[in-house]
Amino acid sequence: MSKSSLSRREFLKAGLTGLATTGATTILLADELKKQKNISGKPVDKSNQPEPPGGRREGFIYRTLGKTGIVLPVVCMGVMNTDSYELVRAALDAGMVHLDTAHNYLRGRSEEVIGQVVKGRPRDSFVVATKVPPAEGFNEKLDLSLKRLGLDYVDILYLHNLTKRETVLAPENMAMAEAAKKAGKARFIGVTTHTNEPEVIRAAAEAKIYDVVLTGYNFRKDYIKELDAAIEEATAAGLGIIAMKTLAGGFWDKQRTQPINTKAALKWAMNNSKITTSVPGMTTFDQLKSNLEVAQDLKLTLQEIQDLRLGQTANLSGLYCQGCQRCLPQCPNSLPIPDMMRAYMYAYSYRNLQAAHELVTELDLPGNPCAGCETCTVSCAFKFNVREKLIDINRLKAVPGDFFA
Ligand code: SF4
Ligand code: SF4
Repeated sequence: MSKSSLSRREFLKAGLTGLATTGATTILLADELKKQKNISGKPVDKSNQPEPPGGRREGFIYRTLGKTGIVLPVVCMGVMNTDSYELVRAALDAGMVHLDTAHNYLRGRSEEVIGQVVKGRPRDSFVVATKVPPAEGFNEKLDLSLKRLGLDYVDILYLHNLTKRETVLAPENMAMAEAAKKAGKARFIGVTTHTNEPEVIRAAAEAKIYDVVLTGYNFRKDYIKELDAAIEEATAAGLGIIAMKTLAGGFWDKQRTQPINTKAALKWAMNNSKITTSVPGMTTFDQLKSNLEVAQDLKLTLQEIQDLRLGQTANLSGLYCQGCQRCLPQCPNSLPIPDMMRAYMYAYSYRNLQAAHELVTELDLPGNPCAGCETCTVSCAFKFNVREKLIDINRLKAVPGDFFA
């Protein structure tokens, strides 16, 4: 079986049993990693697990999504970067249950593809989430999303990309989400956050109307303790937590010559038992196979732990902006640096130029956002050359949007 390009046929032939890990090289987490992230390292007892939508799959690790009661495997599918019916269908057929999309992913193609894949399946056998920004046109966008999905309701509706407590608690935003739930267009409501996550998560718990938070979470966060504390508090209050950006961009370099050990990164994230599931974006059957293996076994090997440290040991800054916002007060032009860095990651790591273009266009910065600065006063926590990256990614704005259609 070709490791680099598993075809659909090969994937189906292998089946789930063919995907099981050998265990020979698998060890429990090292003590130092336990200290670093308070991971128990205990083997998961899979014998008495709750029942997920569509039925339990042998070997999978399941968790319950807070007060929603929805039971999910620890790895599900993000449908941000693919419009492959076959891949989405294969993920559902293999037991991934939950598909995560957004109104703007692939300009609606993601929702259309999911709509075709779930058509004809029992409504209680899958869980779909979509995201709409809390802004003008919210209701129209939600209605269009439902139409594309071919569904009367989504299981989870997120207010997309919130960065501040005030936005989470804004009465008009809460009213939008609650009205959608009341109208039967969403079973559950939540918020998503890529930056300043601890504040957003705590605010979501404080609001008492939200059911789920989809948060950035990975081994590169240098404020992981604060993030873990916020997650702990939120889950104690009944919120369900789902992780995204678990692969930290997938590459250490812009040229994509040094991949991050994404299997290790996903295991690392899901070793936080307070997080119900993760929604890594997949574009290949190889990635699906690897992620299905993680759904069954979260134990990290020593080699995997070492691989995750490569950024520190080889002094690589990677492509992932952790959204710490420390750069914001340092820029005299108040540029939305974390958003631009996210666009940079979409372009160079995900190779999703459409998503990068959309984000950059929305931000509507001048041609050279850093003109007027003789030197950059920003010192990034990950040592990014912020000025260089900003100017680089901002060039996308000059490309007509139709080019990516
Ligand atoms: S050069 Fe640096 S400080 Fe100046 S606008 Fe750009 S990011 Fe901000
Ligand atoms: S650009 Fe650097 S300092 Fe700014 S949010 Fe991202 S990681 Fe933090």
